[in-house]
Formats: sequence, structure tokens, C-alpha cells
Amino acid sequence: MSELLREAAVQAAAIPAHRQRLFIPGPTDVAAEVLAAQTAPMIGHRSDEFEALFARCEAQLRQLFFTKTRVFTVVASGTGLQEAAVRNLVEHRMLSFVNGAFSQRWHDVAASCGKQVVRADIPWNSAVKPEQVANALQDALATGPVEAIAVVHNETSTGVMSPVREIADTVRAISPETLVLVDAVSSFGGARLATDDWGLDVVLTSSQKALALPPGLAFCAVSDRALQRARAVSGRGWYFDFLRLEKSRQQQTTPATPAISLMRSLAVQLDRILEEGIEQRFARHARLADRTQRWALANGFELMAEAGYRSHTVTTVTNTRAISVNALNAALARQEMEISNGYGDYKDKAFRIAHMGEVQESDLERLFAAIEHFLTGQKQ
Ligand SMILES: *Cc1c(COP(=O)(O)O)cnc(C)c1O
Repeated sequence: MSELLREAAVQAAAIPAHRQRLFIPGPTDVAAEVLAAQTAPMIGHRSDEFEALFARCEAQLRQLFFTKTRVFTVVASGTGLQEAAVRNLVEHRMLSFVNGAFSQRWHDVAASCGKQVVRADIPWNSAVKPEQVANALQDALATGPVEAIAVVHNETSTGVMSPVREIADTVRAISPETLVLVDAVSSFGGARLATDDWGLDVVLTSSQKALALPPGLAFCAVSDRALQRARAVSGRGWYFDFLRLEKSRQQQTTPATPAISLMRSLAVQLDRILEEGIEQRFARHARLADRTQRWALANGFELMAEAGYRSHTVTTVTNTRAISVNALNAALARQEMEISNGYGDYKDKAFRIAHMGEVQESDLERLFAAIEHFLTGQKQ
């Protein structure tokens, strides 16, 4: 156990422990010692102490992103970095894959930044497949250059996980200069994203999902060639300018005031994640997903996401038994638990069980027992 974790455990003793309550796809429950780390006194962000905190976090984040280059930490949620990636790396035109609500949002963010966004629609419930990427990219290239493609790794609205590695290989084979931008907001920390090995130019995420931190921080890995590309892009803005963030990063700090308390939490949580083991953490999420899928099928439900591409962090259960999701959540609330209704049009037609962050097998079993109890009461 690291010195930091020992100190955090002492601070945590002052706050009441709670059981896993949230089975929603963010925010997720945060461990007591991670919450408690926020209560430490402030320090100046131009101090040696802050620089040490920054350096420690950045090095550990690079491990989690499987990158040797760089990770930026910003005070924003994930959507802020969706916008940053577009503004830094696309001057004119990009290709956006839309297979759910969050890829739809990224498309809209890009369009609202004044970029020309070629849109490739993929049925919701389906993953973005390499063949579809090849076709859409070739079509788009026929009418002009494509500076970047944007894809969501884990569509939180449907529980579909797309094969990002194969997508990146496909893009490189057809158009090597096209950058590959990946939103990994709801999978990062729960499933592998091998930034360098897979040749991903941007991988972005936020703090409050599988990383199990309070909301308020967002992180992205940015490749060298992407940073190079940013130099030639106009209108990058100030706050999220990758070149400015990089200059500060090299001095172990941030251009504007960082969220110091949240970074203290981050340091503790990164130690906890590395203590569990990155591979063990991914394996745990895969087991939780498998267990949830089997539970849903065994209880007369179906799964919304297509087989072979089901998310490791959130399962969307098709409500084939036509239960009231609101009544279910009211029953769960009495035991201090909560799941999510279906997203948007899927409200009541589906419900989502998130198993990300700190969720353990025993937490899921407690949830399933409570849902089964509710289901028994529904029978005539
Ligand atoms: C939650 C989510 C977002 C939005 O992230 P915020 O941190 O709420 O801005 C974007 N993409 C995906 C896939 C998400 O799950």
C-alpha cells in the first residue's frame, strides 16, 4: 500500500462508509478515501507540491491510457474534450459515426463549432464496424479530404462497444493522414484502450464514470502527430488549446487554475486502480458484464446490444416483461440502490444496469436479488 493510500485511509475514517448504491452510467460511487482526499487544505498551483501531484497523476494516467506521449487533465466534463478535440484538430472537414446519443452529441458539438461534419449513421444497438468505416470514409474522401474521424468506443445509451482497434487500422489503411478521435468516456478505466499500439490520436474520458471519481475532471491522450496537426489549425481557442496545455504539462502544471481538490482525489484513486491492477480491473468489468447479461436472459429479458459487441461497463436490458421501470427504481430506492431507465426513446422499453467503477460481484448479486424480489411481486 502506498503512503498516499495509508494517509487517505486515515482521512476516510472521518466520513461515513456507504455501500455501492449507484448502478447508473455516471456519476458512479466514489470510494470513501477518494472522497476524503478532497478535504485536504489548498495549495498554490505554482508550488512544488502541486507540481509533484501533477507529475505523479500524469505518469499514472499514461499507464492507464497505454501511452508514452502525454495526457492532459482539464477542468471540464467529457463533453468539453469532445469540443476540444474538434477545435484543435479539424480545420474544415471530418467524418462522424453516429450509433447512439453520445456519438450524436459529438456530431452536434462538431457542427456547432462550425466544422463540416460528414455523418455516417449506424443503427442504434449496433457497433461501428470496420466495413462501414471503410465505406463511409471512401465516400467522404471522394468529395474532399477528411481530417479526422470521430467514434464513440462505448455507447452509453445502448450498451454497445465498438472495435476501435480495427476501426483505426481501417482508417490508416485507406487514409493514413486522417486522425482517429475516440470518445472513451464510459469505458475508460473499465476496458482496454491501447492508445499507442492501436494508433489512436485522441482518447478522451471524464472522471465520473468507470474511473469512479467525482465529476469535474476530464482527461485525454493526444498523439504527437495530432499535436503537430494542431499547430496549423486556426480558432483553437484558449482554454482547451492543446499547444498551451502541452507547454504547461512540460512544466508539470496547467495553464489556468486546476481543480486541486479533485486532483488529490485523482491521485488516491489512481493508486487504488494500480493496486487492484489494470488487467484485473478490466477482467472484473468483463466478468460483471457477463454476469449481468446472463442474469437478464435467465430472468426473461433480452439484451439490446448486438452479440459480440456488448459493453463491459453498462448493460442495456430490453424490457420484454413490460415492467414499470419507475416502480422498480422506487423499490430499489428503498434499499438505497438505483438503476437507469432506457435512454431517450428507449425510456421504459429498456433499462440500463451500469457495472462500472468500483462495482463488485457482491454488489451486483445484492441488486439482482432486489430486482428478483420486485419481479416476484409483479406476478399475478
Ligand atoms: C457521459 C458520456 C459523455 C458525456 O460526458 P460528460 O462527462 O457528461 O460531459 C460523452 N460520451 C459518452 C460515451 C458518455 O457516456
